[in-house]
Formats: sequence, structure tokens, C-alpha cells
Amino acid sequence: MIERPPAVIDTHAHLDDARYNGRVEPVLARMRAVGVERVVSIGIDLSTSREAAALAEEYPAVVSAAVGLMPHDASEYDADYAEALEELTRRPGVVAWGEIGLDYHHQRSPAEVQRRVFLDQLRRARLLGLPVVVHSREAHDDTLDVLEEAAGFPLLRQPPLGVLHCFSGAERHARRAIELGYLVSIGGVVTFKNARDFQALVGRLPLEHLVVETDAPYLAPHPRRGKRNEPALVTLTLAKLAELHGVDYGEAARITTGNARRLFRLPDPANDPGDFCYQLGSNLYLNATNRCNNDCGFCVRRRKLGLAGHRLWLGREPESSELLECVDEAGGPERFREVVFCGYGEPLLRLEVVLKTASELKRRGARLRIDTNGTAQLELGLDASELIARLRPVIDHLNVSLNAADAESYVRLCRPSRGAAAFEAVKELVRAAIDSGLPVTCTAVEQPGLEAEAIRRLAEDLGASFRLRAFND
Ligand code: SF4
Repeated sequence: MIERPPAVIDTHAHLDDARYNGRVEPVLARMRAVGVERVVSIGIDLSTSREAAALAEEYPAVVSAAVGLMPHDASEYDADYAEALEELTRRPGVVAWGEIGLDYHHQRSPAEVQRRVFLDQLRRARLLGLPVVVHSREAHDDTLDVLEEAAGFPLLRQPPLGVLHCFSGAERHARRAIELGYLVSIGGVVTFKNARDFQALVGRLPLEHLVVETDAPYLAPHPRRGKRNEPALVTLTLAKLAELHGVDYGEAARITTGNARRLFRLPDPANDPGDFCYQLGSNLYLNATNRCNNDCGFCVRRRKLGLAGHRLWLGREPESSELLECVDEAGGPERFREVVFCGYGEPLLRLEVVLKTASELKRRGARLRIDTNGTAQLELGLDASELIARLRPVIDHLNVSLNAADAESYVRLCRPSRGAAAFEAVKELVRAAIDSGLPVTCTAVEQPGLEAEAIRRLAEDLGASFRLRAFND
């Protein structure tokens, strides 16, 4: 039997670099052959960030991307630049904001500008719940000061908050970064024959806070030093790390790969079930199912495995206890304006799980909303008023995807499993909710030819308010 090599993740490479001549497929094939299951391709400015995001889209099974502006060109950064980067973070496969940071070696932008741009990108990444990839050269104390300043920003994710890429500082810098909630990434330099002091330092840092990287095509590890680097060679760095820690290669791979998955929220192909809950803005969303009895042409599930760095395509559906655990891990229901059952699918197909979870959260004072397509009762064998009677005691607000002003348009856009009957079901559900005193917002997804005003009138006739949602909202 051929044993599979332990899974490794190269947390930092630049696959868009000209040295690969646009031919990344053989590079990816070589890395997979030695057990490197994924590489994170990193942008250093808008143009390379676009290329990194494009590679992650082209090779979603093995490439993820980070987007950001390095300190070199910090002087180019303004609100438009930041918004363009933010837009890129919504592309599938973008898992982090970076690389960002401080570089006092080159000083191509004034230090003060570098610090301001670094801090602003940290703030934006925090609001998006994204980890950051930090570059620091001859600026370790200032880098950590900025990270400490960012600790006061609203926190929309649990640590690890980011990674110090290609770490080259002193032990006190690494330990301070770890205390602040960051991982430390070890590159090929640790394999160099003249890196004795650095090797000793790395051997003292806890494996639980380390990841490995190539920084390819730069900094190839020994014995390929000076040659073009590539993700497959991260195995040489990992082997050195294992030796320095006195563990076998498989153990070092298990720990550092687990760290990288937690950092970038990457799936464990073996058993990662995906994200049962996720934060967007000031709300917490509960992901109870990926099933849906509609098949809308505009559904984000058709194009992406998740949103904003969250992996919402589930390996399995969560139990109520797992949803509640997820809420607690996110800081508890009181931290959020609303807790929303939305699913990356139709949440009411899991009515019993939704009710059980909602009752407990309501008891703890949460404000609760359900985002529904309004047709699940057809699958559950309930009529609209029966379903509303069960929801009413625990739910504060219902968002119903109306999407059309007539049955024909609804069937064309939403392709419901029950055909035209589904449109009547949506309207009945809205009426039943309004009659029970439950506030309802009807929504429609913006798209060419949408009769938004007619949908608004229908929603208002039914007694609901109306909101037009952006495509991908
Ligand atoms: S109702 Fe929602 S989850 Fe279902 S297919 Fe439509 S957009 Fe997707």
C-alpha cells in the first residue's frame, strides 16, 4: 500500500511571479506529489492581489489567496485603493488580507505613511473578520506596536488574528506576537547552514503557534538555496522544524497544518464540516443547512463555497448543540445586534433544530431573525399559519425572499421544486406572519430586468416592508 504523505500547507508564496512564466500547473502538481495540499498565494499590491485571487478561482482545490498592499508602495494607498482591495476580498478563495506591514530596510515609502496604511488595512481586515499576513523587515518593534494598537479595533474573529510571515526578528518579538494572538511563520532561512542562532530560537518557539512557508519564488531552502523556490520545497523547511523540535515530520505537519487551517479557515478535506456560524457586520449568522427547495439562478451557492472567508458549504449539518457552541465561541448572543438563521440554504428545512436553538438563544436574551425563502412549509407538510404559530414565540423578525411580483417570474427566477404553488406559499407565509404580529421584510435580489417597484408594491400590500438586496448580498 502506498502511504499518503502528511498534509502540509505552504502559507505564503507568490505564484503570480514572473519567474513561473504563468505556468503554475506543473508547480502545483509537484507540490501535491509531496503532500503539500494547499498554497496561499499572496498579493503585494492591487495588481498582484487580482492575480492571486484569479489563481485561487482557477485552482480552488489547492490555491487560496491573500490580498493587500505591502509597505513599499504605501504612498499609493487611499480610500479608492482600499475599497478595491476590499472588493477583492469578496472573491471566492480569498482567505486573508496581506501582505501588509512595515519595511524599514527599503523605506520606499516614509515610515509614517507605512504605519498609517498598515493600521488602516488592519482595521479593514478586522471588520471583515479576515486574518492578516504581516510583512516586517527591520521594523519588528514598530510592527508589534501597530498590532498592539489594532488590538483595540472591533474583533470579528477569534485568534489567530494573523501571521508574521517569514519571521526574522528576535525571540521577544515572536513571543509578543503570540501573546497578541498571531502565529509565526517560518521560512526557508531556518534551513541555511549559517542560521544557527535562528535555528535555536525557532526550536524554542511552541509548535502550536508556528506555520511554515516558502515565500516562493524567493528564499529557497537548503540545499536549493539560490534557486527558484516553489511550494513543494516547504517540506524541507518543515523537516528542519521537526528536527529542531525533536518530533517526527508527521507530527510537525499535523500541528502546523492544523494551525494554518485555523488561521485561514481552510477546510480539512478529511473531516472539516465547514462554518456553522459566521459574523458579518454586527450580526451572527447560523448556518443550519445547505439544502434548499429552490434553485435560484442568482444563488451565491452556485458560484462559491462561502462568503468573506467563511466556509459555508458544509461537510455535514450541525445539531442544535453545535450551533449553540458556535454562538458561545463567537462571544455569546449578547455580543450581536441580531442572531440570524440563514443557512447557506433554506434554514426552515431544519425546523426542529431552528426551534430548539432559537428557544435557548431567546431565553438568553438574543434578538432573532430568520431569513427564509418562505416555502419550506410545503416540504414540512405544514400550512403557513401552523409554521408561524411555532416560530412566533421565539422569533423577532422574518426576512422572506420574494424576488418576483407574479408566479411566472418567480418560477423563472427561483426554480422552486413545487413550481407555481411555491409563489402562493410565499405570500401565505408573509400574510400569516403579519397577522400574528411578526414583522416581515420581503427582499428581492437586484438583477437586470427585475420589476423592483412591482415587488415592493406586492410586499407592502401584504403588510411587509421591502428591501432590495445587492447581488451576492
Ligand atoms: S432560496 Fe436562497 S439558498 Fe435557496 S436557492 Fe434561492 S438564493 Fe439559494
